[in-house]
Amino acid sequence: MKLAIVGAGVAGSYLGNRLQGDGHQIEIFEATRKESHWPVCAWGASKNVLEIFSKNAGLDFDNYVLHRGKKLRMDLPDEKVEYLDLKGLVTYDKYLWERDLCEGLKINYGFHCTPESDFLSNFDYIIDCTGFHRSLLPRSPHDFIIPSYEFLVENVSGVDEFYVIGYKGARGYFWFFPLGNGRAYIGAGDIDRKYYGISEFFVKNPRAQVLRKIGRPIRLSPPKRMLPFHIDNIIGVGESIGCVFPLLGEGIIPSLICCNIFIDVLNKDSTFDAGLYEKRILKKFGYYDDVYRIVRLKMDGKLNSIKHFKLLMSMYRNMKKEEKRFGFGIDFEQMNRLLKAL
Ligand SMILES: Cc1cc2nc3c(=O)[nH]c(=O)nc-3n(C[C@H](O)[C@H](O)[C@H](O)COP(=O)(O)OP(=O)(O)OC[C@H]3O[C@@H](n4cnc5c(N)ncnc54)[C@H](O)[C@@H]3O)c2cc1C
Repeated sequence: MKLAIVGAGVAGSYLGNRLQGDGHQIEIFEATRKESHWPVCAWGASKNVLEIFSKNAGLDFDNYVLHRGKKLRMDLPDEKVEYLDLKGLVTYDKYLWERDLCEGLKINYGFHCTPESDFLSNFDYIIDCTGFHRSLLPRSPHDFIIPSYEFLVENVSGVDEFYVIGYKGARGYFWFFPLGNGRAYIGAGDIDRKYYGISEFFVKNPRAQVLRKIGRPIRLSPPKRMLPFHIDNIIGVGESIGCVFPLLGEGIIPSLICCNIFIDVLNKDSTFDAGLYEKRILKKFGYYDDVYRIVRLKMDGKLNSIKHFKLLMSMYRNMKKEEKRFGFGIDFEQMNRLLKAL
């Protein structure tokens, strides 16, 4: 099949690699220019799962790992501190990884696509991998995004492990993700746009040098709230259709899982069964809607551990089942303590 992929981020790069490998004719269109293209992200994810995706795409994930986490410290309101046992959470060189996924693919940089872009008309299908932008699909009235920005910094000493600061009411968090050799991503997502922790970091680390400042909002609304996933021959994959874990704003692995479902459905038949794709995405990411509801209730100060017990159990059970995929240990008592502390 002749397929246009719009957006060369996680989903676009991985899909391009896999679909070309399956014999499809692929062309990628990316809005940014080649020299300025950069994966906006803190580059943190579970190696347990990325090893498998990388292998499927002909890459050895070990070549990209920058930092292997052991413990993640969480500073909570009222001076409380919790530690998460890490079981595979790493940072990795996402720039090189995406570049290598795209090796041998035809990429047109500097093409900002819209549904009216004529050059997309002679493809069998057009895949919207534009992430947060969702440039080719209609807006969803249930969309919910959290503003965020981050810095790539170097010359950091004294901190060499993952840490986060959780904001009161779960209205966002600050992150420090180590990249090795004194480099790190520091940033924050915050509904109230105060971004506590960023200027405090620079006060504590006066020698830290900023290499890049990057920002864009993160989509928290899950697939159930991001319908439609397709319109005519345009199909959304990745964050464009809400494949982000709402509690953490974590979208690398969900986007890749979404790619796998897309590939499966596409290769099943000579035409793409959009209904089957929608059904499978909604099933796989079904519990993300419970997690999203917990986040929104907490943000609105309405989460009640008795009234919303079923929702909380759904999040716990599903996350526990997927500990390896998250890359950290899940404990019910700790989850409750965290939600209470925020
Ligand atoms: C600050 C920040 C930190 C994050 N940190 C993490 C993290 O540590 N771990 C994690 O798992 N997730 C993280 N996320 C979320 C994660 O990065 C995204 O969910 C994931 O990258 C989504 O993948 P995608 O391929 O769907 O979209 P993206 O990776 O965002 O790729 C979209 C691509 O489409 C291009 N594009 C957009 N519009 C158009 C257009 N009209 N025409 C052509 N091209 C277009 C963009 O330039 C971009 O290259 C973070 C997000 C942000 C904003």
